[in-house]
Amino acid sequence: MTGEHCVFDAHGMLRRQKWTERAIFDDQHQIIEFQVVSHDMSERKQTGTAEPETALGLEEQLQQSQRLLLSLLDHSPSFVGIRDIEGRYMLCNQSYADLIGHRIEDIIGKTDHELIPEAIAQSLTANDALIISTGQAQKEEISVVLNAMERTFLLSKFPLRNEQGQIYAIGGIATEMTERKDIEKALTEANHQLTLWIKELEQYNREMTLLNWLSETLQQCQQVDQVYQAMQRIIRQLFEQFAVGLHMVDTGEQRYITVASWGDTVFVESHVCDICPALQQDDLLNQKQRALLCNNTFDNEQRRYLCVPVVAQGQAIGVLSMYGIPEKPVHERQHWERLAIMIVDQLSLTLTNLYLREQLHEQAIRDPLTGLFNRRYLNETLRRELSRAQRHQHPLSIMMLDIDHFKSYNDRYGHDGGDVLLQAMGDFLPQQTRKEDVACRFGGEEFTLILPGASLEDTIRRAEKLRADVCLLQVYHQGRPLDSITISLGIACFPLHGNTSEQLIRVADAALYRAKAAGRNRVMIANPYEREV
Ligand code: GH3
Ligand code: MG
Ligand code: MG
Repeated sequence: MTGEHCVFDAHGMLRRQKWTERAIFDDQHQIIEFQVVSHDMSERKQTGTAEPETALGLEEQLQQSQRLLLSLLDHSPSFVGIRDIEGRYMLCNQSYADLIGHRIEDIIGKTDHELIPEAIAQSLTANDALIISTGQAQKEEISVVLNAMERTFLLSKFPLRNEQGQIYAIGGIATEMTERKDIEKALTEANHQLTLWIKELEQYNREMTLLNWLSETLQQCQQVDQVYQAMQRIIRQLFEQFAVGLHMVDTGEQRYITVASWGDTVFVESHVCDICPALQQDDLLNQKQRALLCNNTFDNEQRRYLCVPVVAQGQAIGVLSMYGIPEKPVHERQHWERLAIMIVDQLSLTLTNLYLREQLHEQAIRDPLTGLFNRRYLNETLRRELSRAQRHQHPLSIMMLDIDHFKSYNDRYGHDGGDVLLQAMGDFLPQQTRKEDVACRFGGEEFTLILPGASLEDTIRRAEKLRADVCLLQVYHQGRPLDSITISLGIACFPLHGNTSEQLIRVADAALYRAKAAGRNRVMIANPYEREV
């Protein structure tokens, strides 16, 4: 069998070759091999020994256009190669030779597996079989590591066909995309960063809006309960992904109560605050560390809390504990710490103001010696309670009571001794009354009790009990027991003895006067006729 074909030589020149193939048989007439003998016809054609001139001219034209094409390819920034169907290079351009670090003449006739690292060779030849079987061109993006640098190429591969339409080679053109890829990557990263910044900015804006809202709301709070309601709302919105608890000292009970909480309350309510280091005096004095990471082992698990003490007038009055704040990254933890400190600072300031206001108010309505309400408060309260009693058609009684012979008491034990007794009355009277009753110091050694809802009968009974119990009052001054005392009482009841606070006080006082006149240590009931002066 014979034939002719064209190949490129190492210089990219087209060579025409004639080949003869014959089978070699063994003794049993079995084919043991094929022998192919090829002869280069180009020289003969150039010397003009075999072909007519016209054919030679065509050959030259062909070679010329071939050279043109190759020089174009060599100056192309793309990497071009043509491999026969067995993967041997028939042609490549200079850029490709430079890329893989071989000379063109060393590349021609070899396969990728002989020229470049196996991993790269595999990715270059990966879908050659598919191209041959389908006859379809393919485009793919491949990334390879060359000289320790990752480079990306867009590789277009296409089948080359002979005149009979059979595929005899695969052409490949690769365009470098590394720079574009890097730009794309940088762009994606920049975009990602921008998205993060926008998100952070949005979060920052949201947090600032909430903090402003808190600041305005707290300024308007008149009651501690309103403050806690605002705190409940702010911790829910600011720390929505954590478990948070605001625990305040309940002074009466010497324990902490949770006044606001959010999230899994099991964690926040189980946080045993009195061992929380954020509330220890030493830590409080260390102003640099306002928020503490607090270990708590209430359920034998090491749970970490971020705790910020609430301080008012130098006293730790509560703690904001947050569970679930990430310890790392540090900047994130610090962000939550800062927010927690900001809201606790606002809370502390508001509570301090409220306490100061309350203290001022207390000072304004309380008698400093006995701690009982003063006369001003008595007048306000009696007026208010009377109108309530009128509205609900309930009775209301008052008692005016006066210590008998208190002057002589003062004479016996001195003014200090008298003061101690008055202070003792300040403790005794509220103990003897109900929660809704109001005990006031009317002046000197004279006291007034307002008993909302109490009928005349109730009041007589309670006045008699007071009179009996006061005799049992034991008061010590300078380590010595003072003599027991007696009291005289005048009682008046709304609406029986009067309708206004002035009338009731006047008639009760007149009854007290009668009790004194009748010998002291007794209870007298008001007379409605005494209501006018
Ligand atoms: P009576 O049984 O009639 O009420 O006699 P009394 O001595 O209790 O009443 P009197 O009005 O004669 O005296 C009241 C005394 O109470 C005179 C005053 O010095 C004393 N006193 C008033 N305020 C205080 C106080 O704040 N502390 C002390 N220690 N004594 C006071
Ligand atoms: Mg008196
Ligand atoms: Mg008196």
